[in-house]
Amino acid sequence: MLQTNTENRQTIGSYWEASVPEPKPDRQLIGNAQFDVAIIGGGIAGLSAALKLAQSGVSVCVLEAEHVGYGASGRNGGFCCLGGTKLDYHQLIRKFGLEEARKFVAYQVAGVNLVAQRLDSWGVDASRHSRGEIALAHRPKDFTRLKSEAAFLKENFGIKPTLLSKEELDAEGYGGPEFHGGMLVPYGFALNPMAYVQALGEQVRLAGGKIFGKTPVSSLERDGDRWQAETQHGVVRARKIMLAGNGYAREDVPKWLHGRTMPVMSSILVTRPLSDGELSAQGWTTETMASDTRTLLHYFRLMPDRRFLFGTRGGLFENPTALAAMQKRARSDFDTMFPAWSGIEADYTWYGHVCLARTLTPFVGEVPGMEGVYAAMGWHGSGVAMASLSGEKIAGMITGTVRQQDLPVALQRPFRKFPLPFLRKLYLQGAYWWYGLKDL
Ligand SMILES: Cc1cc2nc3c(=O)[nH]c(=O)nc-3n(C[C@H](O)[C@H](O)[C@H](O)COP(=O)(O)OP(=O)(O)OC[C@H]3O[C@@H](n4cnc5c(N)ncnc54)[C@H](O)[C@@H]3O)c2cc1C
Repeated sequence: MLQTNTENRQTIGSYWEASVPEPKPDRQLIGNAQFDVAIIGGGIAGLSAALKLAQSGVSVCVLEAEHVGYGASGRNGGFCCLGGTKLDYHQLIRKFGLEEARKFVAYQVAGVNLVAQRLDSWGVDASRHSRGEIALAHRPKDFTRLKSEAAFLKENFGIKPTLLSKEELDAEGYGGPEFHGGMLVPYGFALNPMAYVQALGEQVRLAGGKIFGKTPVSSLERDGDRWQAETQHGVVRARKIMLAGNGYAREDVPKWLHGRTMPVMSSILVTRPLSDGELSAQGWTTETMASDTRTLLHYFRLMPDRRFLFGTRGGLFENPTALAAMQKRARSDFDTMFPAWSGIEADYTWYGHVCLARTLTPFVGEVPGMEGVYAAMGWHGSGVAMASLSGEKIAGMITGTVRQQDLPVALQRPFRKFPLPFLRKLYLQGAYWWYGLKDL
């Protein structure tokens, strides 16, 4: 099998790229190769599966279109926290029943713990900070809702949030005109996601897994007793396949994916380091990771190097005009929420794809009608913890140590097609306008 060094690394101008050393690139696949398992996508999900498989002695390769962490795994806000679905806790109970909803929440907690354990055992710090995550009421009435939510979470899930009044928020360094009270959930922490995903890639290599960079898969077909993944300069034959492209997946690899997921945008800005004077002028000095209570939420945190990270949801289209409008809106929201910093330079701005599904939950399991092809995708903008654990679960399904029915039911439902898939972004646009109005 001939291989060449990859060149022209695709960069996106993120703070994460600038904050970690550039790794040695993985070689491109040139020629044909055979593995037990081939994984399409070198993000957290694919690499987590590859690591577990390689550690179990399975011959495994990761086929990545660009490089490790090129997708959302190297671009995200670094909130390693509960989540992974657009269904709230009440909807989870209504849809799956209390026991299953509890199982799903326990799975989310296990995902967070797994990431922490991994980083500890690898001796990687990844600039971790924050104990738990706070939701900040953007209107006084949302604090009333948070109070009843806290009681609900305690009663049904054993989660014990701490409530903070507006005065307590001000005293604890959560200053801002839009913060009317908060609910601190004691799970999760913040990290540098590029440091995490690169460390994960390194563990895969050390365990004997093979990662090919600059190797986009253009088709996936059955050939006898194996699957055949065609790439730009070669073909991989494997008994089992894992689809881990998430918001970056091609809709025709395999054709089953067509119309079943919806990539949308999330954008981030990172300011220059803020001085003590600037932090106290705003009254924001906490390093706790935070989001607001809007449906199209903002997420933000002060990082250990005193830069402030601010993320927004809600972008649908990837053309230059739409992207410029999304970033303009993000800046304007930042200036409104943190008025003392409205003139502060943002040294970095970038965006990435989040993957939504019609079921509003991820799918982790074997693709119907495609024996030996597994998928783990659809984290709904919250995949750092969820994709880490789910990648391991897929590895377990492949080696026979995990059964699909052992997973929470919420994760077992294969993606359904969106009605009139070619219009899916337009009708989501309508929903976003409605959410925007509701959030006022
Ligand atoms: C701006 C932003 C902020 C976010 N913030 C958070 C956060 O704070 N906390 C959180 O938990 N989640 C967050 N998320 C979501 C989280 O980053 C993702 O859910 C998670 O990283 C998904 O991991 P993954 O491995 O499934 O997919 P990805 O990391 O997206 O990786 C998919 C990879 O597959 C590759 N690929 C796709 N198709 C092919 C193909 N045909 N051939 C070869 N390779 C292919 C892509 O190049 C890509 O590298 C955020 C996402 C974005 C975009």
